[in-house]
Amino acid sequence: MKIAFLGLGHMGGPMAVNLTAAGHDVTGYDPDTAARAAAAEAGATPADSAVAAVAEAELVVTMLPSGRHVLDVYDEILPAAPAGTLFVDSSTIDVADARAAHEKAVAAGHRNIDAPVSGGVVGAVAGTLAFMVGGSESDFAAAEPILAVMGRNLVHCGGPGNGQAAKLCNNMILGASMIAVSEAFVLGESLGLTNQALFDVASHASGQCWALTTNCPVPGPVPTSPANNDYRPGFSAALMDKDLTLAANAVRANGIHAALGLAAADIYHAYNADGGGTNDFSAIVEEIRSRSGN
Ligand code: NAD
Repeated sequence: MKIAFLGLGHMGGPMAVNLTAAGHDVTGYDPDTAARAAAAEAGATPADSAVAAVAEAELVVTMLPSGRHVLDVYDEILPAAPAGTLFVDSSTIDVADARAAHEKAVAAGHRNIDAPVSGGVVGAVAGTLAFMVGGSESDFAAAEPILAVMGRNLVHCGGPGNGQAAKLCNNMILGASMIAVSEAFVLGESLGLTNQALFDVASHASGQCWALTTNCPVPGPVPTSPANNDYRPGFSAALMDKDLTLAANAVRANGIHAALGLAAADIYHAYNADGGGTNDFSAIVEEIRSRSGN
């Protein structure tokens, strides 16, 4: 398939490489020349502009920093793509922006799905991302073989914007549960409990969750968690701040009483502003320790 890939950064770069390796004809564009060169080295055809990249595309993937980027790029490229092109936006963006992007694409005679991912750079490289998809059944079906090259768990979540909705809701659970797990470890330490003892109990009891058993915020109990590697991400606290801010905006816009989600957004925002953004998001345990004077 002729695929244009816009946004060849930490995620988009390896995703485009996997599409190339699977035999697709990939044309890549990123304003960053190093990102373009890396994709070209892996077999993609570099384009000089976003408009040039989509000129013959049957499918266009965008993997961009924000909703503003997606909407601006769509304004540029929608008139330049062949009629009926399938636009797949895998960036994490606001639900309202995803729905606006969908409207723009359809008004220009194209098809569109939002298909944000989880699984991070490791999943992007390995081709094991989870895709949460919003759009029509037929557009989901058309994109499925392409998404399956880049990921494993592909879930159709409903109409336009519902992929982003699922992503924001999932990450609101993740952010709040990581803080809850971290608070429990810091409290346990103060009460004289070892981290291993709390882990051994909670990981087999009702406190069990991914933040505890896979991405455990203290070193020791889960040897593969970023806590054992100086909190190198993994999933950075800056990205958790971004996703929780999007979730908090949606909470407020919809009048939802989500006290924990809003508190989690505030806590990660403060941690990011204090310089913690490049750490794995589980390093929030250190922030809680320091705020507790421990
Ligand atoms: P990144 O900053 O590494 O990559 C974004 C790329 O987009 C950059 O290379 C930038 O130069 C490029 N870009 C900007 N404007 C462009 C344009 N007009 N045309 C083409 N390219 C353009 O970010 P990333 O970590 O790859 O994340 C991309 C998206 O994926 C974000 O929305 C992020 O929230 C989401 N995401 C990231 C992760 C992760 O672990 N990094 C995980 C899940 C989701």
